[in-house]
Amino acid sequence: MQLRCSKPCSVETSRLREDRVCPECGAPLELVPERPTASAAELRALWSERRSSIEPADRSGVWRFRELLAGLTENVNDIVTLGEGNTPVLRGLATGRFAGVNDLYIKHLGWNPTGSFKDLGMTAAVTRAAVRGAKFVACASTGNTAASMAAYAVRAGLKARVFLPQSVASAKVAQAEAYGAELVRVGGNFDDALAGMLEGADESTYVLNSLNPFRVAGQKTFTVELMEQLGWKAPDVIALPGGNLGNVSAVGVALEDMLALGLIDRVPRVAVIQAEGANPFVRMWQSGASELTPLKDPKTIATAIRIGAPVSWRKAVRALKLTNGTTIDVPDDEIAEARTVIGRDGIGCELGSAAALAGIKRLRASGWIGEQERVICILTGHLLKEPGTTEPKPEPDMVRAKVESGC
Ligand SMILES: [Zn+2]
Repeated sequence: MQLRCSKPCSVETSRLREDRVCPECGAPLELVPERPTASAAELRALWSERRSSIEPADRSGVWRFRELLAGLTENVNDIVTLGEGNTPVLRGLATGRFAGVNDLYIKHLGWNPTGSFKDLGMTAAVTRAAVRGAKFVACASTGNTAASMAAYAVRAGLKARVFLPQSVASAKVAQAEAYGAELVRVGGNFDDALAGMLEGADESTYVLNSLNPFRVAGQKTFTVELMEQLGWKAPDVIALPGGNLGNVSAVGVALEDMLALGLIDRVPRVAVIQAEGANPFVRMWQSGASELTPLKDPKTIATAIRIGAPVSWRKAVRALKLTNGTTIDVPDDEIAEARTVIGRDGIGCELGSAAALAGIKRLRASGWIGEQERVICILTGHLLKEPGTTEPKPEPDMVRAKVESGC
């Protein structure tokens, strides 16, 4: 297992520390790809066979694909798992009609143990922290990372410290508390919380923010699971919400792996959707700038993606270039509308996730997505993460029924 700077710069690899950014240029580190020598057919058969095993590592939707997590741990007994992954692919009904896409599918990563996609990366990174003998783990979080880290850390017997920005959904904080994490409230936004944490992180603390390369490694498995669910036939488009951009980075790494191993023969186009008030990546992409300019005061109702200085933007650029992808932003009212429609499919999600569907609708309207194309909408956080944000509104039909019945 080897690390390198993701920029890349000329830093000596001996100076790199796996849970911190590059000491030379400040970019996140990444793992040098280490791929198995088995054939695509052998890998598919092995992964399929594990579905009928009762071993926890085989039942995990992350560790079932452990040939793609080379060097993370030699011993399956070291794996810290809560049975993450294994999320279904669901046909979009009301959502498909709403977006004007006939062949729409939803993969909801919010149906993971702590209710968000973060569990996929956390099982890998906490396993790594435990194997390395860490005692303390820490992260800065808009809430979902905190809940996930706290659960996996306590399961591994590690102490967890969470740095929270001012505005975080209370349900997420309640989760972190329930798992016994120490909470440190930092004034300001996510970027301030991150800066506060990195400042206070001494040598004994293992940092589990999305800059941790093992989190990206774990997260990449959902794309592998998705391709397996689709019979190893790549869809036309994968759309996902973009905050810190760790997810799109992970999708890019997974697609590179699968292409190199012959598991798929082409890649889908990847679309990253940001909120209009928290769109530093979209601004960079559309202006053609070579560096990301952080957005000082990001504003959106979608707290999970209210991030002005995404750490993984370079890897995200690489993913979009690899896949001929794109990134757009959507206003808050369209995010809220999309979230309502996702609820009508009996699925539901947090606001940040709904940006993906709002983006698909726009990309379909602009022609970037064709009418007959197969589109996968990735949702990342469970509806119950933000219970206070769903105001019960009467449906137009129900109002009419009430009027007609005289009540
Ligand atoms: Zn560097």
